[in-house]
Amino acid sequence: MAFKSYMDVALEEARAAANRGEVPVGAVIVGPEGIIAQAGNQTRELNDPTAHAEVLAIRAACQALGQERLSGCDLYVTLEPCPMCAAAISNARIGRLYYGASDPKSGGVAQGPRVFSHSQCHHVPEVYDGIAAENSEQLLKEFFAERR
Ligand SMILES: [Zn+2]
Repeated sequence: MAFKSYMDVALEEARAAANRGEVPVGAVIVGPEGIIAQAGNQTRELNDPTAHAEVLAIRAACQALGQERLSGCDLYVTLEPCPMCAAAISNARIGRLYYGASDPKSGGVAQGPRVFSHSQCHHVPEVYDGIAAENSEQLLKEFFAERR
C-alpha cells in the first residue's frame, strides 16, 4: 500500500489555530479506516496549558473509539511533540509518530528529555521526523513575527 501523508490536514489545523490566536500546531490521528480525530492548539481558548494539539487529538480519538488506547493508529503533528505530549503518545500506544519541524526550545522527542529513549517509557512509537517541516516552520515564524 502506498504511503499517504496526512500532514496537510495537520497543517490546516495549525493554520486554523493561528487564526484563533493560538500557537500554530496541528495534529491528526489516523486509524486503518482513515482520520479519527484532528485538532489544533487550544491552550488560550480553553485556559488549559495541557490543551496541546496532540493531547486534544488523542482525547477525541479515544472518545470516538470508546477506548483508552490507540494501538495501530498513527499521529501526525506539525511540530516535534513536547515532553508532556510525548508521554501521552506513549501512554496511548500510538503506533507511528510523524512530525514536521523540530523544536529546539520545547521538543521532547529528538532533544531535551528524549522521552521515548527513557527506560521508564513502556511503549515507543516508530518516529518519522521532518515531514513537511518547512511548511510547519514557516507557519510558526509568521505567527511569532506578527507578535513581535
Ligand atoms: Zn505538547
